[in-house]
Amino acid sequence: MAPQSLRLSKSRFLAGLQCHKQLWWRVHEPDAPELVPDAGHRNILNQGNEVGRKARDYVPGGTLVDLPFHQFDNKVARTRELLQCDPEPPAIYEATFLADETYAAVDILERGPRGYGLIEVKATNSLKPEHLPDVAVQVHVLRRAGLPVERAEVMHLNPECRYPDLGNLFVREDVSALVEGVLLGVSDELAAQHRMLEGSLPDVPIGDHCSRPHVCPFIERCWPKLPPARSSSGAGPSCQITTSAACTASSAKRCSSTRRMVTRRCTICRPTSSCPRSTRARCVP
Ligand code: SF4
Repeated sequence: MAPQSLRLSKSRFLAGLQCHKQLWWRVHEPDAPELVPDAGHRNILNQGNEVGRKARDYVPGGTLVDLPFHQFDNKVARTRELLQCDPEPPAIYEATFLADETYAAVDILERGPRGYGLIEVKATNSLKPEHLPDVAVQVHVLRRAGLPVERAEVMHLNPECRYPDLGNLFVREDVSALVEGVLLGVSDELAAQHRMLEGSLPDVPIGDHCSRPHVCPFIERCWPKLPPARSSSGAGPSCQITTSAACTASSAKRCSSTRRMVTRRCTICRPTSSCPRSTRARCVP
């Protein structure tokens, strides 16, 4: 059995799916400064939590596993208790399971006639490809823990919803069939991540995966430093990056170096789309 600190979770699994090296640092250096969320990131996390809480109103009658975030084993035990209640609640919010040395906390677990439905709540306006492995690892853990999961859904915000009528605030999309395909690779990937975590820092080359689906917090450790920019008359000043610390825009528009919104990049070197730092920034000649 792996020590608890080396156990995986849904978020760790997804980090490892993006890059084993990123996962290794997340697990072995949990206090790394890169992992401290800045104001913008905290804002996004808070919005996600708020949407998650609101979603429970649309699957009413459930019982919340209401324990502090890091009490994983207690949450697993409490979930087991709720599943054995008579009568069993129609839904459990934050139901938590452990199997294959991996924790999975389900936003909403809904009891059905022949099994359970798992609902992953997302603060997005549509279903995204990266949601599928997120749901798949939960289905894997729940089934390995002995729970019959018959349905998997992503519940995201409805772009058609107009205030003050919030009756259609969410859209529930059945992703059961899509997830079954992704599930085929989950077991091997979990085993590979566990093996990797027991060794030393893996050697992973940089690439597109450093910013997809999320900007890796360890970019500064892996990517080479930019060379000094040059002007037409010779050596020029270094690139200037104007940032707004207060910006709460999505990470897709953030500078991968500073993790802040880039409003303007270099006035001298005009980096091309191959520029490793931020291809989304506008270069002013
Ligand atoms: S910067 Fe790229 S290679 Fe380095 S840990 Fe992050 S994802 Fe992996």
